[in-house]
Amino acid sequence: MDMKSSHASLLTDPVPVNKSRLRMHSSLLGYSQQDSPLSPGKCSRSNSRKSTGSVDDVRSNGWLDAMKASSPPRKKLLKGSSAQVASIDFDIEDYFSWMLEYPSALDSFEKIIDLAKNKKIAMFLDYDGTLSPIVDDPDCAFMSESMRTTVRSVAKYFPTAIISGRSRDKVFDLVKLTELYYAGSHGMDIIGPISSTLCKSHPDCVKSTDQEGNEITLFQPAREFLPMIDEVFRTLVEITKDIEGAKVENHKFCASVHYRNVEETNWTTIGQRVHDVLKDYPRLRSTHGRKVLEVRPVIDWNKGKAVEFLLESLGLTDSNDVLPLYIGDDTTDEDAFKVLRESNHGYGILVSSVRKESNAFFSLRDPNEVMKFLQLLVNWKRQERKHGKK
Ligand SMILES: [Mg+2]
Repeated sequence: MDMKSSHASLLTDPVPVNKSRLRMHSSLLGYSQQDSPLSPGKCSRSNSRKSTGSVDDVRSNGWLDAMKASSPPRKKLLKGSSAQVASIDFDIEDYFSWMLEYPSALDSFEKIIDLAKNKKIAMFLDYDGTLSPIVDDPDCAFMSESMRTTVRSVAKYFPTAIISGRSRDKVFDLVKLTELYYAGSHGMDIIGPISSTLCKSHPDCVKSTDQEGNEITLFQPAREFLPMIDEVFRTLVEITKDIEGAKVENHKFCASVHYRNVEETNWTTIGQRVHDVLKDYPRLRSTHGRKVLEVRPVIDWNKGKAVEFLLESLGLTDSNDVLPLYIGDDTTDEDAFKVLRESNHGYGILVSSVRKESNAFFSLRDPNEVMKFLQLLVNWKRQERKHGKK
């Protein structure tokens, strides 16, 4: 099936994606190398973070708006509150109208397997909010045993990769499945199958061996940033230590500042301080996730590029034979959705319980629905195999 026509046929009246929401606000891109007379490398610390800009910096350049927009509140049903019930009714109505644009992957399952007919599905999965629930403490974002069993079954039938913002080691510790491929730090740290062709074409690609002695390809396009990320991580810990609830994580090739447990009245302060720190690092930028500020190297690499890299290293680039599916919930997953949409090769599935503009084609409400969808895929493939199909 021609992917271009099949994409078009899914959404008879596609609503254009609101680019202003998907494109990075220019103020969040940090400072490009060309912009800074001191690049490459970080700036002098003479206008250090101690001489902070005014709080208006954060308000006027859109950081605060972006922090709020990236962090929709969770809905709670309060008994006996008619106003609350009315508001939830409205939200549900709004959600269902949004689903006309991003149909449920569960309701569209027959359509999806029809698109996958005679093709090999390649499965790409985000971790937080996709395989695990979003929890207050990111160290406690564990996936359930039933989800682990499901993902193991998925990997038995389809090449499967986890692409996460966490460090590769951390996400492996949480998932604990050796059957998968892993891309950590938003795709900046990938372990894939051995590929001499890729190692020749990518200078940051090296042949290596994993813990079990298997030959693998290790790809780390931001390797030179390791000392800088380590340094900025320590700085971020220092500047947020007096803000109750703030948590900083080192993801090896990027760092994140979580404000999930920070009082909203302190969001401006936290945004301002991170903003000020980045003034010293022109080769780093900040992006917004769900109640988290991600500090990342300014390099032309993201989850979308990681998907392309993995497809290439797995020998799955032929759109006539392969159907990539990417399931994710965060802003950073949009890069992957976009790659699939623009190449007419596969489909993004957004995990969201609220209305969001997206480059995905389908939606799932939460990790429970993700598990149901994955189980449907496994059952379908089992039946296919039983009947002698590939
Ligand atoms: Mg996520």
